[in-house]
Amino acid sequence: MISPAAVTGSLNSNVPTAGPARPKNIIIMVGDGMGPAYTTAYRYYKDNPETEEVEQTVFDRLLVGMSSTYPASVSGYVTDSAASATALATGFKSYNGAISVDIEKRPLPTLMEKAKALGLATGVAVTSQVNHATPAAFLAHNESRSNYIDIAQAYLNTDADVILGGGQQYFSESLLAQFTAKGYQHLNEFSQLEAVTRPKVLGLFADVQLPWAINDKQGHKLSKMTQKAIELLSQNQQGFVLLVEGSLIDWAGHSNDIATAMAEMDEFAAAIEVVEQYVRESKDTLVVITADHNTGGLSVGANDKYEWHPDVLHKVKASPDEIATRAIASEQWQPLVAELMGFKPSETELTALDEARMQGNEPLTVALRQLIDVRSNTGWTSGGHTAVDVQVFSSGPGARLFGGHQDNTDIANKVLSLLPESATQQ
Ligand SMILES: [Zn+2]
Repeated sequence: MISPAAVTGSLNSNVPTAGPARPKNIIIMVGDGMGPAYTTAYRYYKDNPETEEVEQTVFDRLLVGMSSTYPASVSGYVTDSAASATALATGFKSYNGAISVDIEKRPLPTLMEKAKALGLATGVAVTSQVNHATPAAFLAHNESRSNYIDIAQAYLNTDADVILGGGQQYFSESLLAQFTAKGYQHLNEFSQLEAVTRPKVLGLFADVQLPWAINDKQGHKLSKMTQKAIELLSQNQQGFVLLVEGSLIDWAGHSNDIATAMAEMDEFAAAIEVVEQYVRESKDTLVVITADHNTGGLSVGANDKYEWHPDVLHKVKASPDEIATRAIASEQWQPLVAELMGFKPSETELTALDEARMQGNEPLTVALRQLIDVRSNTGWTSGGHTAVDVQVFSSGPGARLFGGHQDNTDIANKVLSLLPESATQQ
């Protein structure tokens, strides 16, 4: 049991001193791959250049501490999303690829299972497929994150009240029929979500992941799923536990795609603001926000130059992969690229783009991303993950527990300690 005396480090004014010690509802939010450089970059991306000061973001407002992310020693120091989500969902470290099983591949009890046993409602809302590593570790157990079909099947027995995201291709007609037989409303279209008034709901809004936020600017899908999940789960008088993931921050990081990454950050921040508002109004809800790891070794400024130019990113009108697709389909690709990138490439750059275009979508996408990196002076050190510590943000009853340095397993153990009493005695 962790007492408030365990608090270390300085805390922001967002951590309440009054109110209940234990939350009724717990919302965990994971920015997949969202290392400290992402929240820093996002601050400058959101800065109003007309004012002298740099405005605070929701991340600045809610920051309370830091967390290490290393997996079980068999996997070294650099975690993947599965091992980190296992740590966050169970309080135990495991190997990279593990979905809430230990290094002997035995199932580990999860926060969601404990919450369910106590009569709380549970749910997940994510922008990846719903059975991707992070939500999978909260809802299921599997020796490998890549066993997508098994994980989707396992969701049937989780009794989760709300499951929202992508992943239609992993749910067969017969599996969907089993969900329906269990009382789930199954949705295929995002527009159907608004009208839902009761759990249980299984909403699968894309074949795999949801569209990039940069290509779906009016969509605000993560914010809307978060809002709806809260509305449905809060019908349970005992309380609820909800996982929200900004999954595609990591995907953009793997691609070293700064324009797409910042748009994903913007949508994740919007979802956090939805939760922040709910925490403020409900007074009995705790939110804990963190990243599972850092992705891409993002550098805000690069190449020995003391500059970063987020204004370049605001002018990019679509993700580079989308721009490449459209440029390959168009005869008049040069003006199209200039229009969608928000700047006119030089003659040398156009020659290089032309060569890349002949080679196909992926080479052209990479070339476009590199032009954006050069103009914004963004750097990357990896197409994978890095082991730098990530930040922890929190608000609501119990938020002060998450101050100072901790390990990702500590985050889970603190959250578990905040479940209703009977849970901690199990
Ligand atoms: Zn990743």
